Amino acid sequence: MQKLIIFSAPSGSGKTTVVKHLLTTMSDKMAFSVSATTRKPRPGEENGREYWFLSNEDFERKVENGEFLEHEEVYAGILYGTLWSEIHKIWDQNKAVVFDVDVQGGLSLKRRFKEDALAIFLRPPSVDVLLDRLRKRSTEVEHHLQERIAKANHELSFESRYDTVVVNDVLEETFEKCEALVNGFLNT
Ligand code: ADP
Ligand code: 5GP
Repeated sequence: MQKLIIFSAPSGSGKTTVVKHLLTTMSDKMAFSVSATTRKPRPGEENGREYWFLSNEDFERKVENGEFLEHEEVYAGILYGTLWSEIHKIWDQNKAVVFDVDVQGGLSLKRRFKEDALAIFLRPPSVDVLLDRLRKRSTEVEHHLQERIAKANHELSFESRYDTVVVNDVLEETFEKCEALVNGFLNT
């Protein structure tokens, strides 16, 4: 079973929250593709769990060696990318691969894997709610927060290119909808 489940959305929409939940309830069926990034770890993040935290030089070397399936400069000067090694490791365990990637990365994965990929766009109920969640998460210094907010409006315009859109309003309902979508996809 070589399947992929892609979660994309603007920062603060709830991708990490939803993906973490699915990974606890459906760990027998799926595993997380740990991306590489050049951003610094947030408090509590561990190398190899949330991300592979790389220097710019190491990231560029991996790009040159063809180790990335896709990579994007998601924010100015900050690179993120999906490693082939993660995908093969998970497929070798006979599990589907779950991605938390930006909107461009999600669309490029969908283009490549077509019907083997389920691309879910997680939309916040409104831009105001998104801003509120981002501010409450308090993980970004102000100028990074402003960059994420500026990018959010652009990213929201891509939802129609996704297989399905889930509005993340009441978290429990979002969990149920996503579980149902993923189960439906994995059972076909
Ligand atoms: P992303 O990974 O898309 O950037 P997160 O999963 O980090 O988003 O969610 C952003 C913040 O919003 C987090 O503090 C999270 O706890 C909170 N959050 C996520 N979903 C909901 C929801 N449905 N209702 C209220 N808060 C939520
Ligand atoms: P954060 O810094 O909040 O963890 O993530 C910032 C953004 O980068 C999020 O939209 C996240 O989905 C995206 N991202 C994380 N990993 C990857 C990746 O491998 N490829 C791409 N294209 N985007 C990624």
